[in-house]
Amino acid sequence: MTEKCGVVGISLDGRDAARPLYYSLYALQHRGQESAGIVTHDGFQQHSHVEMGLVGDAFSEDDIESLNGPAGIGHVRYPTSGSVDSSCAQPFSVSFKSGSLGLSHNGNLVNADEIRDELADSGHAFTSDGDTEVIAHDLARNLLEEDLVRAVKQTMTRIHGSYSLTITHDDTVMGVRDPQGNRPLCIGELDDGYILASESAAIDTLDGELVRDVKPGELVILRADGQGFDSYQLVEQKQTAHCFFEHVYFARPDSVIDGKRVYEVRRDLGRKLWEESGIDSDVVLPVPDSGRAFASGYAEAADDVEFAEGLMKNRYVGRTFIMPTQDERERAVRLKLNPIKSTIEGKTVTIIDDSIVRGTTSTQLVKLLKDVGAEEVNVRIGAPPIVAPCYMGIDMASRDELIASDKSVEEVADEINADSLAYLSKDAVAEVLEQSRDDLCMGCVTGEYPYDIEGEEADREITRTEVPADD
Ligand code: SF4
Repeated sequence: MTEKCGVVGISLDGRDAARPLYYSLYALQHRGQESAGIVTHDGFQQHSHVEMGLVGDAFSEDDIESLNGPAGIGHVRYPTSGSVDSSCAQPFSVSFKSGSLGLSHNGNLVNADEIRDELADSGHAFTSDGDTEVIAHDLARNLLEEDLVRAVKQTMTRIHGSYSLTITHDDTVMGVRDPQGNRPLCIGELDDGYILASESAAIDTLDGELVRDVKPGELVILRADGQGFDSYQLVEQKQTAHCFFEHVYFARPDSVIDGKRVYEVRRDLGRKLWEESGIDSDVVLPVPDSGRAFASGYAEAADDVEFAEGLMKNRYVGRTFIMPTQDERERAVRLKLNPIKSTIEGKTVTIIDDSIVRGTTSTQLVKLLKDVGAEEVNVRIGAPPIVAPCYMGIDMASRDELIASDKSVEEVADEINADSLAYLSKDAVAEVLEQSRDDLCMGCVTGEYPYDIEGEEADREITRTEVPADD
């Protein structure tokens, strides 16, 4: 199962955490629309409310009032391509001999089945087929014999894959980021406490201050009095594998991920796109909303080209990326975007988007623009071609659904009926992110992954994580 989610954890000095958790889940709604949930702890008892649906629909005022306690975590979950399944909704919560656990996970383990089988053999009963429950059971088992930090460390050495976790153990709130830092997680300071969140936009929503990103392999424990946090670098890893697509598409443009402002990154990628493959045209149009920052950087670098809004978005239609069937995706494109004829008719046009997944949107857009009189439609994409699936927690598409998986750039241009098509290079992405390509996950654009995936190529020796001898 793959999923792309948003996680949050808050510890306050006395005040109930449920309402700020609720607001921060609103800020992370773009990371998951299938289900939303909050688990809190009041020092005596754990409280949980998890529902299918958007944050605004999942909680009533009474639900929020009933979630007592100054410590808690929250989760929004992305729809999977398969059936909608409430058993996988999070946070996952469990009570056991050493207390209660709540766990929110963003990512995907690559060895969950192996650990699940082992735990099942030793008597653990599972209620879902998700990997989050595997982490919770492993941690619960370790907590029977170890203190909190050692227990988390042991779990981190056993699980492999991508994970950013927020966890409650009774009224202690903590955050963990996998040793390669694949999915984002950051720490923020609030007036009366601290917050861990997938994106800094959640911290802004609560008028907090971004402190820093959680480091790959780090455990952060928020102090119960809301006066700070403690850091434990539990696993050292020489290479990271930050998901470059967080910057390109997934994260909110107003977030800061791994020290980089997402909006500025997208504008810089747009500038690079012009440098690498700029083409003269009368007008540059962003594909709203995700192409806007790229198009603004591209048009600025091009200097004398007109930048215009030529496509109007119906804000009440969801992202085509998350529609489960091809038929629904095609209908959604037609529902979602409408061209403004006056900015397009009789002109040569360049449209800028962040990515092409299945090609459905691009094909429909080129047709729409030509139907309203564009003389020429060029397509420029602010990321390299997506050629392979993601196994790190992104529900992207299977290989045979990806338009670029078996086609050259020219063949994709023909398929979407564009007069020209160009993508940004992988090196340009790494340069803008100021990272070595080896420190980024680029699995979906290279087919080479930071973990050993059955049937896929690993792009590096799998570095089994090293745990320092002491704590
Ligand atoms: S495969 Fe692509 S989408 Fe998945 S983590 Fe890597 S870069 Fe991100």
